[in-house]
Amino acid sequence: MRKLIKNGQVVTASETVTADVLIDGETIAAIGAPGELSNPNAEVIDAAGQLVLPGGIDAHTHIDMPFMGTTSSDDFETGTRAALFGGTTCVIDFAIPQKGKPMSDALATWRGKSEGKAACDYGFHMCIVEWTDETKANLDAMVDEGITSFKLFTDYPGVFQIDDGAIFRALRWARSRGALIQVHAVNGPATAVLVEEAAAAGKLEPVDHGLCRPSRLEGEATSRMVDLAEVADAPIYIVHLTCAEALKAVQGARRRGVKAFAETCPQYLYLDADQMALPNFEGAKYICNPPIRPAWHADVLWRGMAAGDIQTVATDHCPFNFEGQKDLGRGDFRKIPNGMPGLEPRLPLIHQGVVEGRITINQFVNLVSTAPAKLFGLYPRKGAIVPGADADLVLWDPQRAFDLSHASLHMRVDHSVYEGREVTGGPTRVFVRGELVVDGQTFLGKPGFGRYLKRGPVEY
Ligand SMILES: [Zn+2]
Repeated sequence: MRKLIKNGQVVTASETVTADVLIDGETIAAIGAPGELSNPNAEVIDAAGQLVLPGGIDAHTHIDMPFMGTTSSDDFETGTRAALFGGTTCVIDFAIPQKGKPMSDALATWRGKSEGKAACDYGFHMCIVEWTDETKANLDAMVDEGITSFKLFTDYPGVFQIDDGAIFRALRWARSRGALIQVHAVNGPATAVLVEEAAAAGKLEPVDHGLCRPSRLEGEATSRMVDLAEVADAPIYIVHLTCAEALKAVQGARRRGVKAFAETCPQYLYLDADQMALPNFEGAKYICNPPIRPAWHADVLWRGMAAGDIQTVATDHCPFNFEGQKDLGRGDFRKIPNGMPGLEPRLPLIHQGVVEGRITINQFVNLVSTAPAKLFGLYPRKGAIVPGADADLVLWDPQRAFDLSHASLHMRVDHSVYEGREVTGGPTRVFVRGELVVDGQTFLGKPGFGRYLKRGPVEY
């Protein structure tokens, strides 16, 4: 089955051209000047006035994840459906092993959560939560399964936190295998002291979650991590970077030639620490870790994106309902599940940066699709509009009003953190491997259509 997308503006990470795109089955067969690709057997799709983008890749999601005594509220069926409504055609989620158990168990668990449910293609990162005599063999086995990125935590003492020696060992191993080490970089032990002091003083409101997590503690850990990567001579990827201090560490490392990469998330660009202080426990909706920052950090992050020092925007999508989940922490912020919904509106929120002149349209495509494809071993199968690539394509109306309110979104959660807000630009039609899965407000995709992606070495 062939499809010919005509008259659109094809936008990639490097250029914008008026071109037609021919899809044959699951892949892109050809790209040609308007009118060049006449194909009498193809279904013609008119994209006049629209942009044609490579499908979005969200490289940081926590779908159906057990955490803090509950489970994130989207499963792979509802989460990927919402992703597609927002123009994201591929997600990379995190599999988390249990201490003392092989990583293959965690992979089997997460593949079990996704198979038969995901409506878009997906891959997994693997977390490293301990370093034992078996860890290297586990990591090698994961590379054979198509997992080429591994996340470690300097935060969550006693749960996920791992020491600097283990992080350094992981970096050295990754260097030898073309893999990428991702770090959640916040000084966890110092944070724990501040949390302890706040609790002793009876300061347990949602706003105190943020006050116990000053940005300098993220800057400190980020600086330490990029320095370790420099000495290990390995690339490093800082997940969910939120603040000026951490960006400065990454920028400094990059100027020295360190292969340091950074990801930020829309909540750090659009939300403000004051929102954690909203009355009636509303602040709990805005609790994530690291926390949202005072608004001036967002300007710094946008400039970092424009300068190329922040390479990707993912979401850290980890939704919890206000009723029944967030409210577990009423009266004690330590029990509020950390995380917020974000998978669906990622592309519209970052496109708004183009509307406001903060980044170019090509930078937008790079941040949400091409750079994650390269860094996570999916390029050019994903993240590119070239012959042979998967036909994961988004027809994008740059004028469309995109409503960010709960009533207009599809994530399985009882609120929106952007209630009452609207941005300009959004998808009109979305294709996954040549199949039309979203047409306006109609979902045509199928649970289980999504395939597990074996990923290759990091490219940078
Ligand atoms: Zn996360």
